[in-house]
Amino acid sequence: MMYDLKAVRKEFPILERTIYKKYPLVYLDNGATTQKPRQVVEAMTEEYYNVNANVHRGVHFLSQQATDLHEAARETVRRFLNARSANEILFTRGTTESINLVAQCFCQAFMQEGDEVIVSEMEHHANIVSWQLVRQRMGIRLRVIPITDEGTLDMQAYEALFNERTRIVSVTHVSNVLGTVNPVAELVRIAHAHNVPILVDAAQSVPHMAVDVQALDCDFLAFSGHKIYGPTGIGVLYGKESWLDRMPPYMGGGEMIKNVSFEHTTFNALPYKFEAGTPDYVASTGLAQALDFVTSLGMDNILAHEQELTRYAMEQMQTIEGMRIYGPHDVNIHDAVISFQVGQIHHLDMGTLLDRLGIAVRTGHHCAEPLIRRLGVEGTCRASFALYNTKDEVDALVAGIKRVQQMFQH
Ligand code: PLP
Repeated sequence: MMYDLKAVRKEFPILERTIYKKYPLVYLDNGATTQKPRQVVEAMTEEYYNVNANVHRGVHFLSQQATDLHEAARETVRRFLNARSANEILFTRGTTESINLVAQCFCQAFMQEGDEVIVSEMEHHANIVSWQLVRQRMGIRLRVIPITDEGTLDMQAYEALFNERTRIVSVTHVSNVLGTVNPVAELVRIAHAHNVPILVDAAQSVPHMAVDVQALDCDFLAFSGHKIYGPTGIGVLYGKESWLDRMPPYMGGGEMIKNVSFEHTTFNALPYKFEAGTPDYVASTGLAQALDFVTSLGMDNILAHEQELTRYAMEQMQTIEGMRIYGPHDVNIHDAVISFQVGQIHHLDMGTLLDRLGIAVRTGHHCAEPLIRRLGVEGTCRASFALYNTKDEVDALVAGIKRVQQMFQH
């Protein structure tokens, strides 16, 4: 059953804003970050006002209460991803840090010069540059799964990339440019058939569809709180205990140690081994609230609503002369992101003029320059949907694009 869209929108006060004192906000930049419901902001305010104390360190009441909230948040994330154990849930600053952690620590433990990591042509820079940094230091190689002209992964080419030097695969679940939903379970199956673990960049999937790490059987999975209605500055790395146990810590500091002397230090158990320093324990509370929020609406309902919006938007946008939409056109494998270009209108002009109408879209390379180059363009305009967007907002986007087009015709 669908949720009450009107009531849901009321939970996001920012959606009532007026832009340039004239236009109601049409926020279609959710792929970059989502807006926050009251429940998230209020829980964080409440924690700052009434609970605040450093976690895991104090014997006093507030510290214990803050610790309980932080660990309850970890349990909420575990449940949300259906991980086996809360030890497999690491709090990070976001997807970027989660991927960097794996790149650094996995490579240190398991890779040598000449070993290979498989990524894809549709990765966000976070899943390219993290590995390149290790490449510089250790001399590992990056192998790249090409995409088809339709904007899907070339699965045959993927299989052909495996050899005796392949140590890990790191691919995105959903492309932040094309909206392509990659067949993750199949990617995992193939990687495991070659005895290779796989990291899934779920930054653009977790906010839109149910993701079950045990069902997928992925070895690592990363996502960001701020893209799923939670606060900024917090994200998650899921990792199977069997891998995390054998990886060295990422950073040194408080919390991640058992005993320290100048001669020798022993490290704490999971998940703390990877969580040096004071964590953002207020943000973890906010993230847990955000996950509770989407869970109460139902991830399947969110997916159904966003698929309907994406289908409607693609249909309507295709009525515009000169419209080019990138990525697959089948909404079963196209998530709530639409990258487009209209005729010869530069994406920056389109984005800027849409903004003057109160419509927020993204323009540029979307932190995926290799993919943009593969598409043969300099950039695109990107509209990305969230659980609170409406068909009226799609209509406003379509009308806005037509209006911009008219300006260029005169
Ligand atoms: N991966 C993908 C697919 C993304 O879309 C993004 C953000 O746009 C990231 C990684 C990086 O996320 P963050 O900046 O929250 O670390």
